Amino acid sequence: MRVHLTATAAAAVRRGHPWVYRDGIAAGGNAAQRGERRRGEPARGGAAASGDVVELSAEGATFLGRGLWDAESAIAVRVFQRAQAPQLDERALAERLERAFALRDGWFAGRDTTAYRLCNGEGDRVPSLVIDRYDRAAVVRLDGGMLAPWIDRLLPHLARALGARGVRSIGLRAPAGNADAEGKKLAHLHGPPLPDRLFVRETGVAMEVDLARGQKTGAFLDQRDNRARVRALAAGRRRVLNLFSYAGGFSVAAALGGAGRVTSVDSASAAHASAQRTFRENGVDPAAHEFVTADAFDFLEKAHARGDRYDLIICDPPSFAPNERVKPRALGAYRRLHTAVARVLDRGGVLCAASCSSHITAEDFLATLDDATLERDDLRVRAIHGQPEDHPTLPAWWEGRYLKFVVLE
Ligand code: SAH
Repeated sequence: MRVHLTATAAAAVRRGHPWVYRDGIAAGGNAAQRGERRRGEPARGGAAASGDVVELSAEGATFLGRGLWDAESAIAVRVFQRAQAPQLDERALAERLERAFALRDGWFAGRDTTAYRLCNGEGDRVPSLVIDRYDRAAVVRLDGGMLAPWIDRLLPHLARALGARGVRSIGLRAPAGNADAEGKKLAHLHGPPLPDRLFVRETGVAMEVDLARGQKTGAFLDQRDNRARVRALAAGRRRVLNLFSYAGGFSVAAALGGAGRVTSVDSASAAHASAQRTFRENGVDPAAHEFVTADAFDFLEKAHARGDRYDLIICDPPSFAPNERVKPRALGAYRRLHTAVARVLDRGGVLCAASCSSHITAEDFLATLDDATLERDDLRVRAIHGQPEDHPTLPAWWEGRYLKFVVLE
């Protein structure tokens, strides 16, 4: 099928942006492609089915590139190539995957790290396909619906390429919100059954990962390098506060780095149980530290009222801005959070503030950490970090660069 694009959508594709939204399909294209339908018609996408290969064209360009059609999502086409050859088939995809895996072999050799992103979808030029490795298990996540019809054909390639690297089991992460009766979000695809929980290693640190019920594909692998940075920052700190601590990745990093007492705050108590197992696995006694099940905003208010102070604070909340529309409200929430955090940060302390929303730019985020918000003028931006190399992006794909990790001191 041929899909004719508007001038704006065509320009984005030429720059290498991998998405065509439904409204980027030109009026010349048929109405069904644009998702327009007569009353009573099912919400289907015209002649093409999800997973079909489509050729893109625009005014003055008979061939712009090739992609896969998605009949359901807001993103109608994910663009895989702008060259005519080779054909877009499972062999071409398998080659791209092998390239992504081979890069990781080099990046992680000798780093005592068994958990990392093997393929970052669009950023590895395999749109929609995310694969995370957790030691001998790999977890696949499909964004949108276009690769689901391909997975059976891709699986033998995946099993071979991953098997050669020591991965034995492959699982499929259910789309957000879909869990089975036992709350498990993982389906089996290949190999021995996947464990519900396992320990992986990350730059020399053991970390428990909940494959069955955890967030993302099990862990927040994108904070790996920042956890190592926190470990280095923690030397000599007396009291560390880790807000939104989840499975305690930053907490154990701080404890191993030499912090006296680490306080982890999360609203989920199951996350603390996991964090405590991770502490023990690393030879750190959790009893010497503090795990608080609470709302972070409430905790900060009470800590301030008690006069508690911390000399290293990590603040890594869930995304406050899932879309552009709620951005003003999200910026307000970051500001309120940072004001409250700054009140319990000692003079001479370090604040690590993170945001994982692509709709909040680094400049936007820094504005929520300015002097007026923090109600103090003694801090400087020591560094601004982002996501690690196993989460690559494309120059034109700004949506892929979501992680900000600002270190103020
Ligand atoms: N820093 C973590 C990831 C944080 S994910 C890491 O590096 O692994 C966000 C966490 O915030 C989740 O564990 C969730 O349970 C928790 N959370 C969400 N809203 C919260 C709130 N209002 N107060 C405290 N914790 C919250």
